[in-house]
Amino acid sequence: MAERLDAFLSHHGFGSRSDVRALVKRGQVTVAGEVCRLFQQHISDEIICVRGAPVERGPSEATLILHKPVGLACSHDEKEAPLVETLIPARYRNLPMEWAGRLDRDTSGLLIVTSDGQLIHRLTNPKKHLPKRYRLTYRGTLSANAVERCAKGMLIDGDPKPTLPAELTLEAAGSNGLGRATMILHEGRYHQVRKMIAALGGEVTILHRDRIGELDLPSDLPAGESREITANELTLLSTPNAERRTPNAI
Ligand code: URA
Repeated sequence: MAERLDAFLSHHGFGSRSDVRALVKRGQVTVAGEVCRLFQQHISDEIICVRGAPVERGPSEATLILHKPVGLACSHDEKEAPLVETLIPARYRNLPMEWAGRLDRDTSGLLIVTSDGQLIHRLTNPKKHLPKRYRLTYRGTLSANAVERCAKGMLIDGDPKPTLPAELTLEAAGSNGLGRATMILHEGRYHQVRKMIAALGGEVTILHRDRIGELDLPSDLPAGESREITANELTLLSTPNAERRTPNAI
């Protein structure tokens, strides 16, 4: 893939566009062994060296498991910063990385970030019915038939179409008196869990996605970190009928 030299260097961890342009202008960058002072130059698979050291090229495609912390937006728009994309390691930033099923700024948990458009389609197309499990804390009292209303599909704010059937499991309230529950969705509408809980009389205070298909958020992956998905984990994402396990407490 042809790319401008300044974009390439910036995507490979050598700083902002202005930092890398300064590097190039100072003659510290070579392209195929020749000093290049033109940061607009297009490069493809030539060996690029910075101060004599070859730049290690990232992979040509990648899928990452990312543990999203609260406070970051799934967006590429700088106006919405801080952005989840800043958590993607530099070696993948030359790839068109997108999330397969975004999480709200205030939601934490399992996010699949990938350059594979087909995988995004498979994980987010409601026709595939891939379950996504959310663990939540809420304040307020949910309507007596909350579980049945979720199971039937319900109307939520700003959407004329009822939701697909969802599984709500109520748990014992926490010591702080807040209600706790698990919701399994088979689609991903904007603010869906928060809106469903609101329609049932509650207000979500904590929301965390811990499972997609049969893939659990790895317990050894701290919030803010990511790693490449393994081949075995990828198969867990494509299993259509995920086993529904009772989650642990938040
Ligand atoms: N439902 C929500 O309300 N927010 C999310 O981030 C995901 C599902």
